[in-house]
Amino acid sequence: MKFFRVPGYISMFFRHRVWRVANDNKTVYLTFDDGPVPEATPWILELLKEKGMKATFFCVGDNVRKHPEIFKQILSEGHAVGNHTMRHEKGIVTEESSYLDSVDEASKYIESSLFRPPYGRMTGKQSRVLRKKFRIIMWTWLSYDYDQNVPTQRIIHKAEKEIRSGDIVVFHDNMKSFDRLKEILPEVLNDLEKKGLNAQPIS
Ligand SMILES: [Zn+2]
Repeated sequence: MKFFRVPGYISMFFRHRVWRVANDNKTVYLTFDDGPVPEATPWILELLKEKGMKATFFCVGDNVRKHPEIFKQILSEGHAVGNHTMRHEKGIVTEESSYLDSVDEASKYIESSLFRPPYGRMTGKQSRVLRKKFRIIMWTWLSYDYDQNVPTQRIIHKAEKEIRSGDIVVFHDNMKSFDRLKEILPEVLNDLEKKGLNAQPIS
């Protein structure tokens, strides 16, 4: 069973993390994880520009180091950025000090008060330290753009049915998801327009 919408008990349990954004009833918060990378990120930026929508990019520090010009483009086009560690470490199998070092190292490349843990998971200890420095941004709605087992038509259909104002929606700007994202994202953005929703960066 796959949940696109995060079940309420999970967000209740991790109440120090941000799962939704209360707002004016007509805004969603699109987020893109794991970039910036050539091809996928510029393609997303182009589509967002066309639609007049803004998003938040949770960047991997090492990708920013490798592709500083794409990172600059994200910022200059009015999007927000967040820290997603230096090398996409999995918190629960990474020693606390190396995990925190990785976040610090990424901070040298990504100036932001937002953090999202890779895989959505970290230890309680890591979380307690990081939430002093960052707002920990989770999500309301996961697209499964990376999961070959979920047909893209199902994702598009679910998005139409489920995404609503205040939701934080996760996509990925990595090459693994790119072919699928090219099918999903234009449809989802069209649908948001139809619903009269705009997309803003998380501030
Ligand atoms: Zn990630």
